[in-house]
Order: sequence, then structure tokens, then C-alpha cells
Amino acid sequence: MSEPIIVVDKLRIVYNQGKSNESRALEETSLTVYPHEYVIIFGPSGCGKSTLLYSLSGLQSATYGSVSVKGKAIAQMNEQEELELHQTSIGMVFQAFYLIPSLNIIDNVVLPKVFRGEAPKERLEVGYQLLRRFGIAEQADKFPNQLSGGQKQRVAIARSLVNNPDIILADEPVGNLDSESAENVLKILKELNEVDQKTIVMVTHNPEHLQYADRVVHMKDGRIIKEEIHKEKRAIVHHKQENEDEEADQTNPELKMLMASFKSLLPQQVDVLLVPFKAKQLLSHLLSELNEEQVAMAEAFLKELLFKNIDNATFVDRLDLDLEKGGAGWNHMRAESFSARTEEILSIAQSMKTDADRAPILLASYLITHFHLRLDAKKLLRFQAVLKLRIESQIGQIELRKRLDAPMIQDGVGLHKNTVEKVAREIEIVMLLKFS
Ligand code: ADP
Ligand code: MG
Repeated sequence: MSEPIIVVDKLRIVYNQGKSNESRALEETSLTVYPHEYVIIFGPSGCGKSTLLYSLSGLQSATYGSVSVKGKAIAQMNEQEELELHQTSIGMVFQAFYLIPSLNIIDNVVLPKVFRGEAPKERLEVGYQLLRRFGIAEQADKFPNQLSGGQKQRVAIARSLVNNPDIILADEPVGNLDSESAENVLKILKELNEVDQKTIVMVTHNPEHLQYADRVVHMKDGRIIKEEIHKEKRAIVHHKQENEDEEADQTNPELKMLMASFKSLLPQQVDVLLVPFKAKQLLSHLLSELNEEQVAMAEAFLKELLFKNIDNATFVDRLDLDLEKGGAGWNHMRAESFSARTEEILSIAQSMKTDADRAPILLASYLITHFHLRLDAKKLLRFQAVLKLRIESQIGQIELRKRLDAPMIQDGVGLHKNTVEKVAREIEIVMLLKFS
């Protein structure tokens, strides 16, 4: 009898907790997935499917409760363990494919191996093997925009498999495909489950897909309301109670993972993948009280700004313009101050690339002003030294937090606990923007 491979225990997820736009995406949810199961999470749009799926991989962190993969709570994993989880235990497939437009197909597929620093010969061998298996070997030298949607999704599946994970998590993987391509992709997933014995958790809102699953978990309004079993693969094993994590790491694990993953990549390679992500992160970070449409429009304009398609003045104009006229419908003051802060953050990020000595000084001064920090001369030097280590990726963000928090005599900066959270998060955002 096998142990569960994923255990979700009393998980709750609240977005924007404590703010006016607080959203309870997941009410208390428990779910156990066993090795080799094919589980479908089914329900209407907005019911929390993606939120639940992302929490299984740590892309979304738990607000309350816990998620364990292969017996280990994600919140208790150290940086290395979490990196291993993403690189070798879990493969992810998304509706939007997320291929990198500037890389050809084979390079897209082997990218996760590049992150792991594997030798070209070996990684290409595995990559071509997967392309052949999914009938897309002829596309190897083409670029994503030369492929059909169905082909792109097969490439994305190949990429998710390249490090041979046991678990595949797929979020509406055929949501963008015509019915023939959709069926083809669904058959591949089924085959991965039956032949390769992969554990699969797939999200869908389409009832026609349910036949593929061993077990269907029905969701509504942030809850699991029913389970439907087609094929019993679960072993009857009682799971040990996990210890509650003492101090959950609140920083977005997705950001963390990206930071860790992209260390070995050239900036020009990460660019296109990261820009939309950056726009989203920066927005949700800087905004709290706008409605969805105002945020969505602003996100579009921020992408334009990050892609350097528009300048700052135009950015402000677009934010300010009424929604009916194609703008983001903000008021002028908010648009101005948002643009000013964006500009400031971007210029610090820029200095990280071009002026390594000055970057920690600029970043320190920005953080001091922005968070009203009071540091004496000695603390300031220590603060800058710690920032330098983080900027140069000599320490990760967990170590960064520790050092910001630890007292001076223990080589720390001795910041207040709440301040550490805010400052560390801001630093990660600025670090991310450095890749533009
Ligand atoms: P589904 O995948 O079933 O369509 P989601 O998990 O994406 O649902 O969303 C569940 C709820 O959480 C929705 O009300 C959605 O608006 C909200 N939500 C999702 N992502 C975020 C986010 N990043 N910030 C705030 N609210 C969010
Ligand atoms: Mg979704």
C-alpha cells in the first residue's frame, strides 16, 4: 500500500488579506492524492480550481493549513528542497502554454535542464526523444509562433516531462484548443498516467473531460462539494498529522522559484517570459483598491511600458484616461504617483545591471525612504552589505530575511519583524525587474 503523494490539509487561501479587495478563494479544503492517480478538479469559472492547483506546487502559498508533497510540507521546505520540488517532482502545464517565443522548440523543451546545468548532449537527447514521442520532432527548429495551439501544448507537455517528474499538474490545458487538438492532448495526458504511471491532477470546467479521470473533485464557491470515483486507485493508509509550520514564509513562492530558476539564464532569454509576470507582480504589489477592470487595463499598459513600447508620459496618460475611452480609469494623482514609483523601481533595477557598486546604496536609500527606516551609520553599512549579497545572488531571500531580522551582533541588521517582511518582498520585486 502506498503513501499519499499529495496531502492538502485544511487549506485556506485568502487573496489580499485584510485589504478592501480581500478575496477568499479557497475555504477550508482537504484533499489527498495517491501515486498514479488521475484526479480532475472540476467546477465553474472562479470557484478556486487554479488556486487549489497552484497551491499543490507551492506556486500559491497557503494562508492557513498546509500542503505536503511526498511527505514533506511545502511551507517547511528550504530553498533547495523547493527548487527540487519544482524542477524534478512536479511538471506544470498551463492553458496559455508559456513557451518562450525567442527560443526554438527544442530549446524550450530542454530549458528546465538548462536550469539544472545539465550537459547539452544529454539534455538534447531527452528533448528530441520527447518531441518524437509527441509527434512534433519536425518542429524542433521552429519557433513557438510557427506552431498550432495543439502543437504548442504538446511542446509544453514535453517541457514539463523533461526532468521526469512523478506529478503533472495541468491547469485547463486544452482550454485554448479546438476539439480535435484538445482530444489529442487529453489522450497524451491519459497515456502519461496509464503507461508512464504519472500522477496527474488536471483542472477543467468542461464536463466532457471528466471521463478521463480516476476521480473527479467537484468544486463550487471555493469548496470541494463532492467527489466522484471512476476507478479506485487509493490505498487505505492513514496519513500522519503534519506539524503546523511555526512561521510560514509569506513571500510568493512563484516569485521565489523564478528568482532561483533564472539565476543561470541570460537576461535576454528570460525577458519575454518574465515581462507579463513582472507586470502582474508589480501591480498586485503596488495596488490594492482598484476594481478588476482598472487593474486589468493598467496591467496591459504596464506590459507596454516594460516592453518599452510606450514612455512614462504615455503610461500616465493611459492610466488616467477613462475606461470607456480605452484607458485604465484611474485618477490623475494615482497615475502620477504610480508611474513615479514604477520609474524609481525600474531605475534601481537598471543600476543592478550597470552599476554593481552603487546598486546596494541606491536600493538601501529607496527602502529607507519608502519604509521610513531609521538606521544609524553602522546599521546602514550592514544593511547595504546584506543588500549587496542578495543583489549578487550570494544569498537567497530566506537568508536575506534572516539577516535583516537578526541582531547586529549576529551579523544581522536588526530590523523589526514586520519591516523585514515588507522590505524583503520589495527587494524581491526589484530583483525580478532587474531582468528587463
Ligand atoms: P478558477 O480557476 O476556478 O476559475 P481561481 O482559482 O482562478 O478560479 O479564482 C478563485 C477566486 O479567487 C476568484 O474569485 C478570483 O477572482 C480570485 N482570485 C484568483 N487569483 C487572484 C489573485 N491573484 N488576487 C486576487 N484574487 C484572485
Ligand atoms: Mg483557473
